[in-house]
Amino acid sequence: MTVAALAGAAYIVAALLFILSLAGLSKHESARSGVIYGVAGMAIALIATLALTITDAWTTGAVVGLTLLLTALVIGAAIGLWRARVVAMTGMPELIALLHSFVGLAAVLVGWNGHLAHPVIAPQLVGIHNAEVFIGIFIGGVTFTGSIVAYLKLSAKMSSAPLMLPGKNALNIGALIAFIALTVWFVNDQQLWLLIAVTVLAFVLGWHLVASIGGGDMPVVVSMLNSYSGWAAAAAGFLLNNDLLIVTGALVGSSGAYLSYVMCKAMNRSFLSVIAGGFGIVAATSSDAEYGEHREITAEGAAELLASATSVVITPGYGMAVAQAQYPVADLVRRLRDRGVDVRFGIHPVAGRLPGHMNVLLAEAKVPYDIVLSMDEINDDFAATSVVLVIGANDTVNPAAAEDPGSPIAGMPVLHVWDAENVIVFKRSMAAGYAGVQNPLFFRENASMLFGDAKDRVEDIIQAL
Ligand code: NDP
Repeated sequence: MTVAALAGAAYIVAALLFILSLAGLSKHESARSGVIYGVAGMAIALIATLALTITDAWTTGAVVGLTLLLTALVIGAAIGLWRARVVAMTGMPELIALLHSFVGLAAVLVGWNGHLAHPVIAPQLVGIHNAEVFIGIFIGGVTFTGSIVAYLKLSAKMSSAPLMLPGKNALNIGALIAFIALTVWFVNDQQLWLLIAVTVLAFVLGWHLVASIGGGDMPVVVSMLNSYSGWAAAAAGFLLNNDLLIVTGALVGSSGAYLSYVMCKAMNRSFLSVIAGGFGIVAATSSDAEYGEHREITAEGAAELLASATSVVITPGYGMAVAQAQYPVADLVRRLRDRGVDVRFGIHPVAGRLPGHMNVLLAEAKVPYDIVLSMDEINDDFAATSVVLVIGANDTVNPAAAEDPGSPIAGMPVLHVWDAENVIVFKRSMAAGYAGVQNPLFFRENASMLFGDAKDRVEDIIQAL
């Protein structure tokens, strides 16, 4: 059997392992084996590619390809290992956005190479090849700059407020029409300036699409860019004639699109409006309304309320991850349960900065799964709850989403914590949440602010208890 045939078989095994990996990652219990399948699939794919390149160098005597591959492998593995070891959980979304941008840039480079390398192609397939080059560069370019903007927004290096250029929808649609027209032109006449034009057009469109999306919709954008990066990889796979890249790209593209759809449904957003860069979203009037005075509470006061409570719900958010407060929170939960208090968690689908972010942190601190409920499971129970502890959450408990149609987060389902008897909000200041919207919850009669780092304040409460 030739090395090429063996590599083909290895690619099929790798593709199957990637499918098993996706299936495993869909549940807590099987997530670890899902990761192992993914790593095994990627290792097999790399070994097969290495074997093909070594054979090529052996038979042709040209070692440039092998040298480049080995250099890329060593540098990539070193950077990957270092980043994976040092990245904080809160930094994962921006790292993922940055990785998506690499896939996009790679697809652009593969597309350019597909044209400049003048491959020998059967005359009847030239049109298809040229369309592949053009479409690959376009998808890759949109993914590249879109992911860079997502990275900048997620790492707070750029404002999370949506960019509202006049006629933004017309700009996006105009860019799509221009892309279709340029593709037809390029298929018939391969002028270099057309490739330059589509590259610039894709870069500008990617930038504009993601810049136009507000902070509250960023979770959908991250999964959507994940999907685009899959399609970009599949486009590169067609150009490189690599079946594994086509299959893997299609898996990432379709699962990312499905995740975006599920998240849009959970957040009551129109899928089309988000993938079209906030199409149809009218510039919301972020209300500067005066909400009056807020109340403050001390850790001792909070401990007293908790000691006399019968039922407590904890709604964690991004601030719990920043403070790494999950361990004292788990300790507090154990102590309250020992005193006979009914304690549960209410998890919003986009709390934190990653789907499942809070669930991972709570699992890490060994909080039992059965007291961790989703937003839909807990929302009707707040009215019968004595105390809600809002630990570093903000947008996900903002009543403006349910009550103020002019709010940028209007329509997004939120945890109805304000229905409880008492609400204690743990944060460091009166600053707005990720979507940049003030939170009227902080000024409600039944709400009190417990200022300071969430971990320190929870530890103070444990002391006081
Ligand atoms: P938010 O990001 O809205 O708010 C977090 C709050 O935590 C802030 O108001 C901050 O207030 C507080 N905080 C920060 N550090 C600390 C600390 N050390 N101790 C105590 N409090 C702290 O959080 P949510 O989880 O409610 O909402 C998530 C937001 O992120 C949503 O808008 C969502 O759309 C978006 N998003 C979610 C993604 C996902 O997939 N889950 C991905 C991308 C975006 P202060 O500074 O005053 O302390």
